[in-house]
Amino acid sequence: MIRVVDLLLSPEEAFSPGTVMKRACQAAGISPNLMPALSILKRSIDARRRPVRVRLQVQIMTGETVPPLISKYIWKEVAGSEPVIVVGAGPAGLFAALRLVELGLRPVVVERGKPVEERKHDIARLNRNEQLNTESNFCFGEGGAGTYSDGKLYTRSRKRGEVSRILEILYLHGAPEEILYDSHPHIGTDRLPRIVSGIRKTLLNCGAEFHFNQRMKDLHVQEGQLAGIVTDSGEVIEGRAVILATGHSALDVYELLNRYGISLEAKGFAMGVRIEHPQLLIDQIQYHTKEGRGKYLPAAEYSLAKNIAGRGVYSFCMCPGGVIVPSATEENHLVVNGMSNSRRNSPFANSGLVVEIRVEDLAEYASYQHFAGLKYQQFLEKTTFRYGGGGQVAPAQRLADFVAGKSSASLPDHSYHPGLIPSPLHEWLPEAIRMRLQEGLKSFGYRMRGFVTNEAIMAGVESRTSSPVRIVRDPGSLSVPRLQGLFPAGEGAGYAGGIVSSAMDGENVAMAVKHWLSA
Ligand SMILES: Cc1cc2nc3c(=O)[nH]c(=O)nc-3n(C[C@H](O)[C@H](O)[C@H](O)COP(=O)(O)OP(=O)(O)OC[C@H]3O[C@@H](n4cnc5c(N)ncnc54)[C@H](O)[C@@H]3O)c2cc1C
Repeated sequence: MIRVVDLLLSPEEAFSPGTVMKRACQAAGISPNLMPALSILKRSIDARRRPVRVRLQVQIMTGETVPPLISKYIWKEVAGSEPVIVVGAGPAGLFAALRLVELGLRPVVVERGKPVEERKHDIARLNRNEQLNTESNFCFGEGGAGTYSDGKLYTRSRKRGEVSRILEILYLHGAPEEILYDSHPHIGTDRLPRIVSGIRKTLLNCGAEFHFNQRMKDLHVQEGQLAGIVTDSGEVIEGRAVILATGHSALDVYELLNRYGISLEAKGFAMGVRIEHPQLLIDQIQYHTKEGRGKYLPAAEYSLAKNIAGRGVYSFCMCPGGVIVPSATEENHLVVNGMSNSRRNSPFANSGLVVEIRVEDLAEYASYQHFAGLKYQQFLEKTTFRYGGGGQVAPAQRLADFVAGKSSASLPDHSYHPGLIPSPLHEWLPEAIRMRLQEGLKSFGYRMRGFVTNEAIMAGVESRTSSPVRIVRDPGSLSVPRLQGLFPAGEGAGYAGGIVSSAMDGENVAMAVKHWLSA
């Protein structure tokens, strides 16, 4: 017998396996003496009112063979198979490569950065504000931008089958089981590198190739046909199909495609700042209690959105119990983002607070055509760098001061390792962003009492929320119409945003490659 039951439990009950079993047996009318097997299907926190509850959906079984937790994946031996070049080893590239192997094709992965184990040293140097390595940083290197991150895995995509494939493959490579049933799954930056190197091992065991520290510098085109790529060391890597999974920070790739006359278009994106509060304050507000989250509840999250003067203002990529990190890829630019460990146990909660930017808002940059958004992004990153304190030291302001239009003489404790310097962001952020952030924050302060406080800070600038450029691909074949065999994928192509959706797009593109090669 298999029964699925819904339970509403206190946090203490929900995190005690014995109690969950007892309550599930009661709900299903099954005697615990039958020694049933139990698996959690869904788990979410209901913090809409006091007391906070945990919703569980569990499957309880007696006298049945327990169905396998996850589907079966067959990564084949592909050593002698047709090569497919995958440029970029971020989520899109790695999941494209795994799918190629399932389809019997041999991925040749070319990555400008270092293997994930070596990349961490460059990240550490960046956090100490010692040096930005433009080829190995928070965005570039094996695992891509999603490795030194919070590893949040929720997506708005409705294609549940594909979402669960991504989660299952991450689980098979070492992610915790909870990601299979939590409503807001996350992995944490302390676990992600091991998962990334595990995926590399799976690929290598099947006969895939990896080329690290090799930047794709050119396409290899013979008689008008794509025949491979050229790396910055001058090596030609041959292949009829190339998956371009280079992320949204590889400006050189957009310029290269532009030189080949490949269609690019400006697309909407968002920019703003990263805000940070004491985590205790967010716990108190969200869990409606002075004591905070207690022993069982996770660090509280929030998600805020408001339309101000026709544009969305919203929180983005929230990292409970996390730290703010420097994520620029170019000298003299300043960009911030956020990450957290699996336990989300830092005393701070950070989040992007960004303003929607539509293509029609870019009139000042119209002469740059499809690069208009990119130029605006660069302008803001360079401006932020100028107001910073040197290297990755970021300009920051207390939150209530920003809303009141007052400079902050000092800053409270914060998580950003390279350091912050007080700066009047209300004076130098572009008007369209400044005004909407101020109005948005006023509204969020009503919704979450205590949110707009001088114990919180904002630091500049959160500019790489998604790609401001789209590489136009044929909707049927997913290839670039002008150069058949070139398949843009993931966030940099402008068709995905975030770890899971980029991974799903990588998989879809791999299937399109298989179809194209077999035609
Ligand atoms: C600090 C931080 C935290 C984040 N946190 C989250 C989160 O918690 N959850 C979430 O869903 N998303 C998060 N994101 C966003 C997420 O990481 C991206 O959406 C995702 O990684 C995009 O995947 P991708 O494979 O398309 O591109 P990327 O991950 O950007 O990967 C592109 C890869 O291509 C390589 N590359 C670029 N150019 C070349 C070239 N010319 N030759 C060879 N290789 C090249 C790069 O080195 C990189 O490894 C975060 C991003 C950052 C920076």
